[in-house]
Amino acid sequence: MAPTSQHARDIPIDDLRAQLTGELITGQDPSYDEARQVVFLKGVDERPLAIARIAGTEDVVTVVSTAREGGLELAVRSGGHSWAGFGTVDGGLVIDLSGMDSVEIDAEHGTAWAETGATAGKYTLATAERGRVTGLGDTGSVGLGGITLAGGIGFLARKTGLTIDNMLAAEVVTADGQVVRASEDSEPDLFWAIRGGEGNFGVVTRLQLRLTEISEIAGGMLILPASPQVITGFLEAAQAAPEELSTIANVMIAPPLPFVPEEAHGTPVVMGRFAYVGPVDHGEQVMAPFRALGKPLADMVRPMRYPELYEGPEPEVRFATGTNFFTDSLEPAAAEAILEQLPKSTAPMRAVQLRVLGGALGRVPNDATAFAHRDRGLFVNVAAMYMDAGEKDIHDAWVNGLVNSLGKDGAGGYVGFLGKEDEATIRAAYPGTTWDRLREQKRRYDPDNLFHLNHNIPPADR
Ligand SMILES: Cc1cc2nc3c(=O)[nH]c(=O)nc-3n(C[C@H](O)[C@H](O)[C@H](O)COP(=O)(O)OP(=O)(O)OC[C@H]3O[C@@H](n4cnc5c(N)ncnc54)[C@H](O)[C@@H]3O)c2cc1C
Repeated sequence: MAPTSQHARDIPIDDLRAQLTGELITGQDPSYDEARQVVFLKGVDERPLAIARIAGTEDVVTVVSTAREGGLELAVRSGGHSWAGFGTVDGGLVIDLSGMDSVEIDAEHGTAWAETGATAGKYTLATAERGRVTGLGDTGSVGLGGITLAGGIGFLARKTGLTIDNMLAAEVVTADGQVVRASEDSEPDLFWAIRGGEGNFGVVTRLQLRLTEISEIAGGMLILPASPQVITGFLEAAQAAPEELSTIANVMIAPPLPFVPEEAHGTPVVMGRFAYVGPVDHGEQVMAPFRALGKPLADMVRPMRYPELYEGPEPEVRFATGTNFFTDSLEPAAAEAILEQLPKSTAPMRAVQLRVLGGALGRVPNDATAFAHRDRGLFVNVAAMYMDAGEKDIHDAWVNGLVNSLGKDGAGGYVGFLGKEDEATIRAAYPGTTWDRLREQKRRYDPDNLFHLNHNIPPADR
């Protein structure tokens, strides 16, 4: 049984505060309203009993033990970018790792130890100073903890694989308050499970990640007017490109951004994002098939330092809904359906994101980690972001309608971009034997389901 606040015994907050090196923030503190916010979904309005701003692994042990012994709900937050708004909880305790964000680089061995509260942007700036990076996602403010444990599909997916393919070890605080090291040689089952199984198995405080020597790249954004031919042509070009190129195609209604010509505002576009990590002087050649698809509305692909990929404004979001699936290709009829459906949504921001996979990501066997979608060629993510909680049903219906019209083939999704979902949807994200294997490890490392505010893998049948 997962703990519930209703059954919580009285928690001696002052005792907990006294045991922590970091800060414990409760409703009496002026910083409470800011501290209870998750970062991405500004509309999430839960009121935790206390938020622990963690200063070190010992603080995590203390809070985990307090929650377990007191029967309190426990939420874990690194970068606060959960699509589901996990990372906070009414009446429970929050482990906020955002202050634990140091990055130590071992340039000689090409690795880094990073605390999980570091953002993708901070981590990348630190490592890039030494001419090396690890592939993370497309957004600088996303937390290293959440993205890595979900899998991490990003700008180097085709060249170096997922973030978890570059994870060498992790320090994990398990539900019983033990601090364990998970790697191929130490607790290998736990190491398998945390590479895609999210926060189900414990609080990961530090990660050892492999670095790849990359400094200057050809990268940035290319915006094309959208048509079915441009969408399918983009995907064909991305599939045919060398694996040094990873792309993200956002099919969306053009926002009124300063670099988008005014006459294109409100029209459907393909906003492509590119990272080519081969020789920079080949960048023009690699980009040519994309530029040939139509007259670009904006072309900002250029030689740059890798961390520049994370520069630029991030959208203000209150609520979001979305779902995703893996497939191999997109039929022209599906491209037409996207363009037909996009104008029908009333969400201020909505997009269909298409990421061509393959390369290094696809060479890892499906059962090597808990991310079991290696053999699929394309990731499709449909999302709507909106301002008013009362509109949830409308936007959910739009997302689901569009996904259905894309011929979702039941291949399951990626937990990193899932909201709060039912067990069937979560199970579909862990196909084949992955689900059973994850449950086995969940029974071993968290039999009472202390860590259940996530895409939950239940230890026992419900
Ligand atoms: C704008 C945006 C862009 C994104 N882009 C990408 C992308 O390009 N590629 C990609 O793969 N994903 C992407 N994602 C998805 C993202 O990886 C997940 O939402 C991820 O969970 C966010 O991590 P976080 O640490 O910021 O979030 P948090 O809200 O802090 O954490 C999310 C959940 O992960 C678990 N968790 C977090 N940290 C820990 C920890 N240290 N120990 C144990 N459990 C933990 C907890 O269950 C927590 O509730 C994106 C999300 C957003 C909002």
